[in-house]
Amino acid sequence: MKRRRRIEDLAVQRIERLFELAEAEARDEREQRSKRYIELARAIGMRYRARIPKPLKMRLCKRCYALLIPGRNARVRLRGDYMTTTCLRCGQQMRRPYKASRAPSSRRGGKEK
Ligand SMILES: [Zn+2]
Repeated sequence: MKRRRRIEDLAVQRIERLFELAEAEARDEREQRSKRYIELARAIGMRYRARIPKPLKMRLCKRCYALLIPGRNARVRLRGDYMTTTCLRCGQQMRRPYKASRAPSSRRGGKEK
């Protein structure tokens, strides 16, 4: 069990690194390479059953798996409690709740009441 955990951690680290590289490539408008890094990251995730960390996953187009960079290949709009991200490559729209992006922090100060 413990060993498996460590392999997963390593996989997650590699996934994070690949996302960083993908983002750098995307910003330099090298989409092909960017996409390749994302593919690798997803392959690692599947191979080691490591989950792609949520903040990273939220930045992927769920249809074409492009790394979404607002202002470049993605349009972000706020609508009420939802954030709508449109992939400018394939037109896919993704909606997610706007507020609950962090894990609930019930232990913070307890200033309620
Ligand atoms: Zn897309």
